[in-house]
Amino acid sequence: MDPKKMMGFQLPGDEKVSITARDWDAMKRAIWRSKIGWEIVTREVTTLLSRFAHMEGCPAVSNEIGTCLPDCPDREFRLSALVILNVARQHGPTIVRKPAEGAYFAPSREHYSEMLAQFAAAQAELEAIKAQPAHTLPAPNDVTQALKEVP
Ligand SMILES: [Zn+2]
Repeated sequence: MDPKKMMGFQLPGDEKVSITARDWDAMKRAIWRSKIGWEIVTREVTTLLSRFAHMEGCPAVSNEIGTCLPDCPDREFRLSALVILNVARQHGPTIVRKPAEGAYFAPSREHYSEMLAQFAAAQAELEAIKAQPAHTLPAPNDVTQALKEVP
């Protein structure tokens, strides 16, 4: 075994991959767009939460984590909105800097042709998958029988 790995100097995941600067920039812009999108979702859902109707004395009026009273008319909608809000908080990128506005370089003809070839190949692969007979799940009895056969 490699002594660097044994000493903990090299961990799995430390390997580096090389990608083109174009793809790296595209990745940064995609993350930035994702951040903007989740911020819009957060803002809109927060507005929605303030509009829901509550019964008199409902603790959820002033407290986001408060539980709605059973008679509140928008109780279920509020719970769904809270799910959306928390997904936006958890899955939105937390630390993203806006990528600098760099110079734009049009893709080369070779790159463009390569991308089109990849799309065509993916489309052909999808057609091949669609042409296959539908996969059927084994009946529950078959699964039970198969589990019994496992030593
Ligand atoms: Zn309520």
